[in-house]
Amino acid sequence: MKFLLYTTTYGKSGSIQLNRPVFWMPAVLLLALLLGAAAGFGYLLASRSPASGSTAADSGQWQAALQEQKQELAQARDAAQNDLNALAVRLGQMQAQMLRIEALGQRLTNVARLGKAEFDFDRQPAQGGPAAPVVDEPLNSVDFIQALNDMEAQIDDRARQLEVIEQVLSRRELKSAVSPAGRPVASGWLSSYYGKRADPFTGHQAMHKGVDFAGKSGSDVLATAEGVVTWAGKRYGYGRLVEINHGNGYATRYGHCQKILVQVGEKVMPGQKIALMGSSGRSTGPHVHYEVLKNGRQIDPTRYVRASR
Ligand SMILES: [Zn+2]
Repeated sequence: MKFLLYTTTYGKSGSIQLNRPVFWMPAVLLLALLLGAAAGFGYLLASRSPASGSTAADSGQWQAALQEQKQELAQARDAAQNDLNALAVRLGQMQAQMLRIEALGQRLTNVARLGKAEFDFDRQPAQGGPAAPVVDEPLNSVDFIQALNDMEAQIDDRARQLEVIEQVLSRRELKSAVSPAGRPVASGWLSSYYGKRADPFTGHQAMHKGVDFAGKSGSDVLATAEGVVTWAGKRYGYGRLVEINHGNGYATRYGHCQKILVQVGEKVMPGQKIALMGSSGRSTGPHVHYEVLKNGRQIDPTRYVRASR
């Protein structure tokens, strides 16, 4: 046997004589080994397949393994569906919140006397796709992702509009309001400062992002600056809460009220009675949890409480 070899490296051909066993014996051995392995594998497959005439015990084992795998798959699918349902509930809550934001936007548009054409909170953001899924039908992930995308687009659109309204308000309507000043109560005493403290419920160290004014249940809660009410209702942890936007990046919050006397979108003046002191929500007794926010973040209200107008 004679093989012709051609190498590009040297550009010349050479030949190898295969008539000596030392060259072809390893190749034959390797081939034999491969064939043997293939045959063994084939036999293994045949003996485990229920279609081939294998024993009932083998077939049973095979079926059990399949069954087990099927169950695992079903469990995984159930878990995924449960997660999806939980997310769907969360999405529903977000959509409800969105409706509140729309209502707020409409009221603010009226307060600021802005052109309806410019700020249209009734307008649906541009979207397409199939009709909303029928109630109670398990949500599939494609619909869900579509719903999430719609939601995101809607939030972006509304956030942009609200931002512009806030700028207009702070320039035009709230020119006189500089920053919050004074105490949020007519009578009462400062019962807890801003900063780290032992949580009154858990005892753990926790950040207290406002100051507390304790007093008589039902006593007056006062706005500390001119502004527009942006929240008037229950909120997790705060109980009945009033939030006022003062423009120029300032906002104040008044938590744990017994009764709220203002509505979202209403314009309030400094010293105006906005609520009655209570102990609603996460509270151990009648007090106002008072927060001052600058650009969306709670800051230490002490300096503002001490300031006078
Ligand atoms: Zn507090």
